[in-house]
Amino acid sequence: MKSLQFIKFLNNLHKLTKDQYKTLQTQLKVTIIQSNVIFTNLQKELDEHPQCPHCKSEKIIHFGSANNRPRYRCKSCLKTFVCTRGTAFFRLHKPEKWLDYLQSMCQSQTLEVCAKTCKINLTTSFNWRHRFLKMASLDQADQLKGIVEADETYFRVSEKGSLKLNRAPRKRGTKAKSASLNKQEWTPVLVAVDRSHHEMDFILTQVSSQEIQNKLQGHLSQDCVLCTDDQNAYNQLCNERHILHKVLSGHQVIDKTFHINTVNAYHSRLKNWHRRFHGTATKYLANYLGWFRALATQKHEKVNVFKLLALQQHSFQK
Ligand SMILES: [Zn+2]
Repeated sequence: MKSLQFIKFLNNLHKLTKDQYKTLQTQLKVTIIQSNVIFTNLQKELDEHPQCPHCKSEKIIHFGSANNRPRYRCKSCLKTFVCTRGTAFFRLHKPEKWLDYLQSMCQSQTLEVCAKTCKINLTTSFNWRHRFLKMASLDQADQLKGIVEADETYFRVSEKGSLKLNRAPRKRGTKAKSASLNKQEWTPVLVAVDRSHHEMDFILTQVSSQEIQNKLQGHLSQDCVLCTDDQNAYNQLCNERHILHKVLSGHQVIDKTFHINTVNAYHSRLKNWHRRFHGTATKYLANYLGWFRALATQKHEKVNVFKLLALQQHSFQK
């Protein structure tokens, strides 16, 4: 529409009858939904890779619409569903703001800034953040290959937001006891990376050889070389899986190749990034680890990873 025509249209809006105004409102809603890139892509995904979110059958057909969104029906279980079913967007309001919100998350913005940018309240901002982060937390490398570096880092235990504390309250900013001394105050996180920018992390209850083996086995290629700074904790894993193990101390480099500098640099970037949130509740730690992984992927693969995650419907079905 030419701008002069559009001004004319706007100037005539007050002449609309009540019914015409309602029709216009409905039409606008339909147009906004139809032009929403997330809906478009979720539909495209279902058309290209049909799968029922209830029974996983591939026999699905278009079946009218619901809330102005195309509806599908499974010919196997006869259930109907919309394209957001089983994704982080299911029953989420304000679809016109989803992409802006994901964009704010790509910029690591705090809850308050995301809320302000997208003009939503703080509770919605919190709920959206953790919905989207849940999908990020499920997305991590499956296999590490070549030279793999593994090391643990520690996050201070936080019951932020809990009404009932399992410990005596502490003043913000006070120093915790050393990580190795106090299990109640620190959560160990095992991070493993390879040299092709694949990262994996696991929240541990304690740093033990059994737990490390449980987490890492099945994720390391048979011919990889594992570099760590701990002989004992990783021995069981390496012996049982017949993996070559290089034990290094601090910044030691063997044969100009084997070191744990990559994983330590990852720890350091993760800790620096996490600081901006001024302590997050331990129960959400996996979500934040997933967020940071997603951002790291974005940096290396030059993609807007949250947008990408948003479009990969099948990966996030509950
Ligand atoms: Zn089905």
